[in-house]
Amino acid sequence: MQSSADVVIVGGGCMGASVAYHLTRLGITDVVLVEREKLLAAGSTGRNAGGVRHQFSTETNIRLSIESIGLLERFAEEVGAPIDFHQDGYLFLLSAPEAVETFRRNVELQRRLGLDVEWLDAPGAERLAPGLDASGVLGATFCARDGIADPNGVTMGFAKAAQATGVAIERDTEVTGIDVRDGRVAGVRTSRGAIQTRIVVNAAGPHAREIGRMAGADVPVAPHRRHIFIAQAPDAAAGAPWRVPASRIMVIDFDTTFYFHREGAGILFGMGDRNEPSTFDTTVRWDFLDEVTRVAIGRLPALEDASISHAWAGLYEMSPDGNPLIGRSPDVDGLFLVNGFSGHGFQHSPAAGRLVADLIAGRDPGLDLSPFSPARFAAGPVAGERYVV
Ligand SMILES: Cc1cc2nc3c(=O)[nH]c(=O)nc-3n(C[C@H](O)[C@H](O)[C@H](O)COP(=O)(O)OP(=O)(O)OC[C@H]3O[C@@H](n4cnc5c(N)ncnc54)[C@H](O)[C@@H]3O)c2cc1C
Repeated sequence: MQSSADVVIVGGGCMGASVAYHLTRLGITDVVLVEREKLLAAGSTGRNAGGVRHQFSTETNIRLSIESIGLLERFAEEVGAPIDFHQDGYLFLLSAPEAVETFRRNVELQRRLGLDVEWLDAPGAERLAPGLDASGVLGATFCARDGIADPNGVTMGFAKAAQATGVAIERDTEVTGIDVRDGRVAGVRTSRGAIQTRIVVNAAGPHAREIGRMAGADVPVAPHRRHIFIAQAPDAAAGAPWRVPASRIMVIDFDTTFYFHREGAGILFGMGDRNEPSTFDTTVRWDFLDEVTRVAIGRLPALEDASISHAWAGLYEMSPDGNPLIGRSPDVDGLFLVNGFSGHGFQHSPAAGRLVADLIAGRDPGLDLSPFSPARFAAGPVAGERYVV
């Protein structure tokens, strides 16, 4: 392994890979990406639902989506890898009057930024997603350019393109320490030797706080377990066709956070557990499936007779306000953060990587990054992102 580099990136998920790729676009290629697992995308990136949406509640997040989805649409030509991107839309279902009010305001914001977002009633929502039961839904929003992409494809696409221009990717290598001298990053220690560097990018997902601590920086990111279940149709010989959407439309019941989309011949679904405290545990809690199923069959009755073929859990990397931390650490010079994406990091990784690369290169990122400033919490509570699912 090389003993010095201009930049060391800690973590080989979608964020680390995107930062590496975007650095190379700016001519910065003396870069080492260090990943402790044997494969890239083995953390949260490999366990996510692949959802990609424009529908957010703040201008900065919407702009991140516009840029990111633009790149995902051009990914094959520009980055050079297939990512199985299907733009069948995201449908948000709203059953609480306060949510209706918030979403109405945000649809105006989204339209002002050039997005085509429709406002629907319950029958309109049911027409878009056959098999959906929209009882009690007071309103719904739909953006046809939202969709589902392959997180592994995106990560590998970025990583391979970065590698092709000289970035070293060191798998099976754990970062064990960060050396700081006179308040500035001086190097990284790993299970396979030390690398001298003046710039470290913390792209360690739910482990961002540990990496920050190694450098004496506070990175307020907490891990939270999230489950995904895959349901298969009951025996086809048993009778009527399975009443589920044929497209990959992503349906989100905003009040409960239950969501689903088609995954091959089956249905992928999940829901957050608001009562579970922060944890690094990713074992599947089968008792939670009963709770999810109660909500799930209310919205997609076809799930009642389905069998569960797969289940897994991964970690959301939650920040205190649902917005990421993108930029320089206020505690240590040379430490850059790209952390705390709170359940929507995959879809924002293309733009987030570009922003971090610009900051490292000393370029103007062309976006007001103050809502994502790693220093923002020191000044007291801040209003953040409302569409955290
Ligand atoms: C169930 C679930 C569903 C989700 N659904 C969506 C979705 O639909 N859309 C969306 O946009 N987002 C979704 N997310 C969120 C998304 O997966 C994350 O925001 C995103 O993957 C974060 O990427 P990352 O690269 O920062 O983190 P990770 O992918 O976790 O990568 C961090 C890497 O750092 C490595 N690492 C940690 N410590 C060290 C160390 N000491 N040394 C070396 N390497 C280290 C880890 O091994 C890991 O590979 C979902 C998440 C989960 C859990």
